[in-house]
Amino acid sequence: MLFIDFIQFFFYIYCNQIKKAMNNSSPKKSLSLSGIVCSTLGHDYVISRKITNHINEYRCAQCGKEVTDNFNGNIENLTFKTREINTSLALFFQKKMRRRLPA
Ligand SMILES: [Zn+2]
Repeated sequence: MLFIDFIQFFFYIYCNQIKKAMNNSSPKKSLSLSGIVCSTLGHDYVISRKITNHINEYRCAQCGKEVTDNFNGNIENLTFKTREINTSLALFFQKKMRRRLPA
């Protein structure tokens, strides 16, 4: 008896989550479909911007999700703030590279 209640409870939660997911994805159907592909197979990241020799920005070719390398060498979501940091970092790096070139 308790076990069946348990199953029903999970089924109820499960249905609600599917409903929520469908409501969220209805305006952009193709995007959510590639999102499912990405969540099962992983993102197909392509370098979208080179910041330094070690830091790049990546964009997923499937769903368009953007991430960046951070100072710790980890992958981080690309937000307005991280994009700003990368922009100033790229400028700094370019200046540094220019200085290193022979006259
Ligand atoms: Zn993706």
